[in-house]
Amino acid sequence: MSKAVGTRETQTHTDLDSGAALWVKNNVHRIKDLPRPGVKWKSDVPGFSGSLVRKLLIEDLIERVPGGVPGEKRFYRTKPEAYEAVQVFKEKSEESDRLLPCDDESCPGKGFVTTSEGLECKYCGEVHDKEVIR
Ligand SMILES: [Zn+2]
Repeated sequence: MSKAVGTRETQTHTDLDSGAALWVKNNVHRIKDLPRPGVKWKSDVPGFSGSLVRKLLIEDLIERVPGGVPGEKRFYRTKPEAYEAVQVFKEKSEESDRLLPCDDESCPGKGFVTTSEGLECKYCGEVHDKEVIR
């Protein structure tokens, strides 16, 4: 339960510590469909791969629900502050209507695939450095 809460405020108001908040901000396009708190969900929710789920656990954004049948998929629960933060950053990115700035003005810039080079836009094919997401 212990959390490293810095004295510095993050740029956006969330109840997450700054590291987790930054991760949510940078990955909001991957976790925008994070299930709401209070709902038990399994790691077979579309878009939530095993590695993404592990990352969410490491960042303390979700928790394992105790119990379950051995050998079956585990259940998880989204932490309320994490869900809140996703909504905050999602709204922010929707305000600009683009998650990443593609050079092509007409590109919706909403769907990206991670490649070894960075994030590749599914629409115009432009590759963005991960650092440009802010
Ligand atoms: Zn694009």
